[in-house]
Amino acid sequence: MSDKIVSVAIDGPSGAGKSTIARALANELGYVYVDTGALYRTVGYAVLQNGIDPKDAAAVEALLPQIQVTMGYVNGEQRVFLNEQDVSGFIRTPEVSMAASATSAMPPVRQFLFHLQQEMAQKHSVIMDGRDIGTVVLPFATVKIFLTASAEVRAERRFIELQEKGMSVTYEEVLADMKERDYNDSHRATAPLKPAEDAVLVDTSGNTLEEAIARMKEVVQNALKE
Ligand code: C5P
Repeated sequence: MSDKIVSVAIDGPSGAGKSTIARALANELGYVYVDTGALYRTVGYAVLQNGIDPKDAAAVEALLPQIQVTMGYVNGEQRVFLNEQDVSGFIRTPEVSMAASATSAMPPVRQFLFHLQQEMAQKHSVIMDGRDIGTVVLPFATVKIFLTASAEVRAERRFIELQEKGMSVTYEEVLADMKERDYNDSHRATAPLKPAEDAVLVDTSGNTLEEAIARMKEVVQNALKE
């Protein structure tokens, strides 16, 4: 493979398997995996920590100049930092998911995280996943993929993941949360979740994880040949 910096943009709704697949692909291809959802979650977490209502746009905007969100890699794993404290272990709760979903609809929040994401792709070959990577953050990405699966399949996967982490939630709650977040993400005015015009659509509903990874690898390799 040449030394050219390559960027692979993977967008799609929550639970489509983006992070698991993107991480595996990044390992195989030797690229840096960037989970942009973790950055939005860090902002959501900061908002909750400061006792701010995630729907209060003015209060959220006022908080931004007071916080610093950065990312780094420890043993090849992405970590996120809030004011230099590693908060990676605190951002995966359903409460933080909802706070991230609400605050990510606010243009100042998106602006706040924009440069951090672009900078990563300028410095390294990346596989970056999110909601607006192919449409807004990396419009000139080498490859764009829109990854999805049915809401039921996605809720089932997320439910198993949360159960494994020992969180007490029901499948119905996870499905309802997922549908609400899907709705919020795809109906917001700024950077809504939608496939880029030149994205390859991949639906993993009927696939095992291994099959999904193999399909995605093929899409990336075909695009790199062009
Ligand atoms: O990907 P993940 O589920 O961790 O993202 C958490 C939330 O952050 C999403 O529901 C979405 O609202 C927001 N997000 C976003 N843009 C991105 C990545 C995540 O708006 N690029």
